Formats: sequence, C-alpha cells, structure tokens
Amino acid sequence: MNLKILWIYNDLMDLYGDKGNAEVLRVRCEKRGIACEIDKKSIGDEIDISDYDLFFMGGGADREQGLIYRDLLARKRSIVKAMEEKTAFLLICGGYQLFGKYYKDQDGEVVDGLGIFDYYTESTDRDHRCIGNIAVEVTMDGETFKAVGFENHGGQTKNVSASLGKVLYGHGNAFNCGEEGFLNDQVLATYMHGPLLPKNPKIADLLIKRALKKRYGDVTLEPLDDTMEDQAREVMLKRLKV
Ligand code: GLN
Repeated sequence: MNLKILWIYNDLMDLYGDKGNAEVLRVRCEKRGIACEIDKKSIGDEIDISDYDLFFMGGGADREQGLIYRDLLARKRSIVKAMEEKTAFLLICGGYQLFGKYYKDQDGEVVDGLGIFDYYTESTDRDHRCIGNIAVEVTMDGETFKAVGFENHGGQTKNVSASLGKVLYGHGNAFNCGEEGFLNDQVLATYMHGPLLPKNPKIADLLIKRALKKRYGDVTLEPLDDTMEDQAREVMLKRLKV
C-alpha cells in the first residue's frame, strides 16, 4: 500500500507550521509500513491532481493568497475531477477560504474563490481578527472527540453548510461563531493551524483512511502510541478549561 500526497503551494501557503501536517501524515503512514510520497508543487507547475490520494493546502496571509489564487482558479476543472474520483482534501485557513465563493480582505479587495462550496469569507477591518488558541468538538466519520489548534484570521466565513465541529473555546468560522470549519465526505477544511495534525493524531488517521479509501477501499490502521500527543492536548484543553 502507498499514499500519494499533493502539497500545493508549499512555498507560499505554509503559516504557523502547516508543514507539520504533511510530515505527520508521512510518519504515521511509515510507522505502519505504508509508503508515503509527498509532492510539493506550486505556481505554474504541471500537476495531474487525479494522481493523488490527498490534496493538502495550507494557510497564507492576504499577500500569499493574492499571489496564488489565479493559479488555483485555473486548476478548477482538475480539482473538481479529483473530487469526483474520491480524492481526500485537507485545507487550512487561507486554503479553506479559497474553496468558497470569494475572500474579501480588510481593505475591501475581493479575491475570487473556486466556488466549489457555497460559503464566502469577508474581513471587517484591520483591528478585528480571530486570534488565539481554539478547541473544537469534532465529529468526523462517526467519531466525536476534542481537537485543539491555533487560529489567526481576519476573514469571517459564512454560509457554511456543514461544519467540522462545535467551538468549545475560541472563535471558529467567524467571531464567536460556535461552529468551526467545513466537512463533507472528502473535504476537511479548518481554521486550525498549530499545526493541526501533530496536535490531533486522530484527525491525521481519519484523513489517512479517507485518502487510502480512494484506491484500497476501507482499511483498518493499526493503532500507534499517541501518549505524548494526548498528554499535550490534555494540557491545552485544561488550560482552556474545556
Ligand atoms: N489571510 C486570511 C485571513 O486573514 C487567511 C489567514 C490564514 O491563512 N491564517 O483571513
């Protein structure tokens, strides 16, 4: 068995350690004897997205989002095709925003999104951002558990049809919104940086299962020792009193 990951715009969309997400996927696969290939691609690169089991895009400041969005929009057909072929998607923050209708930044500049989902994102002004630690009760693929992360976004995402989970501490999709991220059968989109997967190995494993399903069907992953990760998450949950 092998897992093929596309990490798109690795050079531009990589805030607050998003690269750790790719690393965790690789390590958790290799510990189980599953070979894992991570291809880093960026603006102008030829990519056949259908070749991959998992599409990963990190977050970025307004500047980086402005630099990459045209390239991303030009790939829409190939992204939709990969979705139809059951590729798994992990989208963080700026990546999350750009799969919706549009992102309006703090200066009122509008960056078009792929429009694959109906949500849209608007910033208010420079003084109001959702910043800080966040804890979320995630419900994913039949499992409910607590996840932790770090959010820093001016954009307020509205009209999200199905969230990743309920906010226990922090903001989520918009100021004091109560709901965090977007989730469907293939796409996990979230404001949780931190990075997400080293802090929340359960999400990493659910993503690996989703990605392997494309070519191998339902697989059972042998459990790994997550004592350290679980302890670290408990410390944060305790600090946030949730
Ligand atoms: N630039 C976007 C915002 O501020 C996304 C930020 C991010 O990816 N952390 O909302």
